[in-house]
Amino acid sequence: MPDDKRSQDSATRDQSLQGQQDQEQQAERTDFLREIVQQDLASGRVKSVVTRFPPEPNGYLHIGHAKSICLNFGIAKQFGGRCNLRMDDTNPTKEDVEYVDSITTDVKWLIDGWADDLLTLKPAGATPGVSKTSAGEDDFYLPGLLPADTAGQAVEPFYASDYFEPLYNYALELIRKGKAFVCDHTAEEVDAMRGSTDTPGTESHYRGRSVEENLDLFERMRAGEFPDGARTLRAKIDMSAPNIWLRDPIMYRIRHASHHHTGDTWCIYPMYDFAHGLSDYVEGITHSICTLEFEVHRPLYDWFLDALDLARVHPIQREFARLNVSYTIMSKRRLLRLVQEGKVRGWDDPRMPTISGMRRRGYPAEAIRAFCDRIGVAKRENTVELGLLEYFVRDDLNKRAPRAMAVLRPLKVVIDNYPDGQTEEFEAVNNPEDPSAGTRKVPFSKVVYIEQDDFREVPPPKYHRLSPGVEVRLRAAYLITCTGVVKNPATGEVVEVHATYDPATRGGDAPDGRKVKSTIHWVSAAHALSTEVRLYDVLFTVESPDNVPEGGDFMDTLNPESIEVLADCKLEPSLAAAAPGARYQFERLGYFCADPEDSKPGAPVFNRTVTLKDTWAKIEKKGAS
Ligand code: ATP
Ligand code: MG
Repeated sequence: MPDDKRSQDSATRDQSLQGQQDQEQQAERTDFLREIVQQDLASGRVKSVVTRFPPEPNGYLHIGHAKSICLNFGIAKQFGGRCNLRMDDTNPTKEDVEYVDSITTDVKWLIDGWADDLLTLKPAGATPGVSKTSAGEDDFYLPGLLPADTAGQAVEPFYASDYFEPLYNYALELIRKGKAFVCDHTAEEVDAMRGSTDTPGTESHYRGRSVEENLDLFERMRAGEFPDGARTLRAKIDMSAPNIWLRDPIMYRIRHASHHHTGDTWCIYPMYDFAHGLSDYVEGITHSICTLEFEVHRPLYDWFLDALDLARVHPIQREFARLNVSYTIMSKRRLLRLVQEGKVRGWDDPRMPTISGMRRRGYPAEAIRAFCDRIGVAKRENTVELGLLEYFVRDDLNKRAPRAMAVLRPLKVVIDNYPDGQTEEFEAVNNPEDPSAGTRKVPFSKVVYIEQDDFREVPPPKYHRLSPGVEVRLRAAYLITCTGVVKNPATGEVVEVHATYDPATRGGDAPDGRKVKSTIHWVSAAHALSTEVRLYDVLFTVESPDNVPEGGDFMDTLNPESIEVLADCKLEPSLAAAAPGARYQFERLGYFCADPEDSKPGAPVFNRTVTLKDTWAKIEKKGAS
């Protein structure tokens, strides 16, 4: 049994999780968002469902985004709809094409084989076309393409910045309707005049400008006549509205900055609240699902849509709670700091909670999706245990990862009665969970490596692995008995173990039926592949590093031991052929993945994806302290 040291507790927990999972796979999911979608379809308010995933390309996607992706694509899948990928790129200064590319790659990877047929993209270079509404107004619409319809066409994600022209036209329309005005107050003045929840705001001195003057000034804002911050375009709503977001919010600001997608075409940029709902409308989104912090913005989302005479069905915004995971952070700003300050090796460092980091570490997309499915959606924020994510990774890899033998901290064992120069090959099962995975040959010879941890010169109580006079099984090979040790005379450290083998136990079983208490893994020294293996631990030492109190810095809670690089591990020779990204279970140690970046042909480097649950290490630690 490969997991012979799993604790009873976690085994029970795993079984009950497995039970829940099976149930969930059978039942259609229901939650408050799906109920809304279902009602909208039943009532005929919408004919089909179009969702969207709208990241701002100012960082890499993380596990929180994975939740949003699974939700948006999951709803589309359940209700026969589709889901647009849209770069929410209205802020020129923090965004970059590097992020656009990584986001696109990560979304495709996460939904591959599950909902990739529902990912709507658009013809490369396409921007919305104009049509007339029933009221005779201009309407802008940018239909997307499903993969099945793209037939050789170049496609790309949607970009909110592709709607700058229609958004500008919508803004002109609001000015003409007397629902927007150009304001000359500074940003600080606007802030101060907004008031608070208890006090009403103060109206802008420029609120009474005529439509003609507003049109003229706004056109000149666009033409670049004014410096940054000189003027804004604001919605004319209600300065005494109880909801602060409705107090004449800013729609446009002047920013003479180059944009990653539109270059220098624009020097005015729309604000999120104005841009988002109308971008949803332009794309024909039916359900705009976002995180709870936008709930207070919802009246404004609706106000912009209602203030314009829009011919098509309006999208509706609904909110769910963000995902937080223990011992990690979700803020892109903070993740960026880790990258910029060199605390990690990049956005895709296997310790990062990013999708690219998890992929590089060996997390299967299926496991991340199963995790997202399990946590579901709620209306209240909470923190999910990192252990739950790891459970799904382990559970998935247990089914599919071929087994191999690897020794991370090698200790040499010389089998004195084994013939010099002899090599035998043993047949080892690739995956006991999957008979179709077959078997492979593992070479054996006189000198083998075992884990340092699998030998104790003076065994503590209940230690059943190798120690002087004790017989153990070398997995799939022979029973061996320890006969003595060689020590470094200076340090007293055991550098070599001597043993004898019983030739009658070939394959690992004694013909007389005698039992041994332990089976350990090994690698033949003459055949071993020597390589680097990287072990990872949590990046932070506290459960909620995102919540470090004022005055503290989340960087102070970084785990100084989050990575351990083992330079000279001994692996069974079949692993030389490991393809970059290939995943294995190293028997008794955990799941490992050949690093996709650093592996060379014939010379893979491995990342530990997740451990098996070795409770022994904990018991030993407790005993020592
Ligand atoms: P930050 O505030 O750190 O910049 P963000 O949440 O604004 O990040 P976006 O790129 O705007 O990042 O997010 C894209 C989508 O993913 C949004 O719909 C957002 O609501 C959702 N999302 C972001 N973080 C989480 C999270 N932790 N859990 C669930 N959904 C999330
Ligand atoms: Mg955002």
